[in-house]
Amino acid sequence: MNELVSVSEKQQFLHKKPINKHIFLIESDKKLAHRLAEQIQAFGFQVTIFLNADSLYAKLKDKQPCAVIIDYELPDQSLSGIEAIKEIRAQPEDVLPLSIPVIFISRRADIQSRLEAIKAGGNAYLLKPLDVSHLIEWVGKLVNTQEEEACQVLIIHEHNKDALYHARILEEAGVSTTICDNPLSILNYMENKNPDLILMDLYMPGFLGSDIASMIRQIDPYVAIPIIYLSSELSNQVKTQALLKGGDNFLFKPVLAEILVSMVTYKAQRFRKLRALMLKDGLTGLYNHRHIKEFIKNECARAQRNGTEVSVAMFDVDFFKKVNDSYGHAVGDVVLKTLSHFLKDRVRKTDLVGRYGGEEFIIVFPNTSTEIADILCENLREDFERILHFSRQDNFHMTFSCGIASYPHYDSAELVADSADQALYISKDKGRNQVTVI
Ligand code: GH3
Ligand code: MG
Ligand code: MG
Repeated sequence: MNELVSVSEKQQFLHKKPINKHIFLIESDKKLAHRLAEQIQAFGFQVTIFLNADSLYAKLKDKQPCAVIIDYELPDQSLSGIEAIKEIRAQPEDVLPLSIPVIFISRRADIQSRLEAIKAGGNAYLLKPLDVSHLIEWVGKLVNTQEEEACQVLIIHEHNKDALYHARILEEAGVSTTICDNPLSILNYMENKNPDLILMDLYMPGFLGSDIASMIRQIDPYVAIPIIYLSSELSNQVKTQALLKGGDNFLFKPVLAEILVSMVTYKAQRFRKLRALMLKDGLTGLYNHRHIKEFIKNECARAQRNGTEVSVAMFDVDFFKKVNDSYGHAVGDVVLKTLSHFLKDRVRKTDLVGRYGGEEFIIVFPNTSTEIADILCENLREDFERILHFSRQDNFHMTFSCGIASYPHYDSAELVADSADQALYISKDKGRNQVTVI
């Protein structure tokens, strides 16, 4: 029997809470408040505007936002922003817990004001005139807008009873587990589940865990995945040999729940960070070219097995060179980071956003037809062109061109990526700032 046992998928579905993306913006300059709100909304947030802080306490009691952005002074109002936050924080009812970040926006650059903001529990202090992409960067840093995916652990076990026991302990601690009781099918499981850690019995009928570890280590993408052996083996010599063959640690059976959970989560999270460094681009934090290619290949293979579609959208910023030439490379970098935040915040958890090259980006939409991808990208295009970018000299808008192609209409991963690129160049030829599907 080598059926996939995944308790966590179902649990995650049942327990899924919608992500709170609601921001309270308190700004007395009506025009500025609306302009800011429109810009913030383009990043996928909802914004409630308050022109003064009078009803803020009552509103917080009613509904909790994911962040509060408040003008430090609120000129001409009965209560300044800083006083309002201090008063609310002094109330016995904790309507503004420290887990909700407060971002002060202010014209005052003096240390005294900055210190006051810190004392009131401010998490960020941004000077006006505001650079919205900088503001969004802070919101992104302070608010968890992406659902944190549970660590994935693959359990390779001889006895189903033991495996289920370990799986249950880990699942209760929020770790996602898959049990594989046939070592011959381990590579399928690895490909399907992309685990962050392997927990493996040292002895299984007909197999040694250490041989399986050696085999895993011979496959490039799995060179660094943590492997923990489970065993009641006492011999130091046997244990050393097993570690030399590719395992990282031993857990002695029967293992205490706290030890199992803490070792597994620590090692799995560390591996995730390491993997992110290898797979992601330094400037934008998006997946890099190599990983995108690999992802498209895997998704096309999955689509072939399941009879589904994969759409690939390629984006290129229009006239980007002009930004570098007019305002400098650093401003160009901020535009690229803004577009990255924007795209990442707007897609589903299952979609992949990557930086394909300099000012070229890509989104891979699994299980999505070109018609749907077209609608999604058209919305992105419209919203991105509304974002205002800043330089010392000027405020300006940017646009991008986009091309979409899908598998199996184009029947290989390479062909889909090349066709999306061709579609992108049709958009460029037709005058830019548009989406083309081929
Ligand atoms: P088009 O509308 O035809 O796409 O015009 P474009 O100016 O966007 O395209 P072009 O290919 O002529 O220029 C792209 C520029 O992007 C050239 C390159 O210096 C710049 N670039 C690439 N990577 C980066 C980066 O990481 N940061 C900055 N600031 N610029 C970059
Ligand atoms: Mg380009
Ligand atoms: Mg370009």
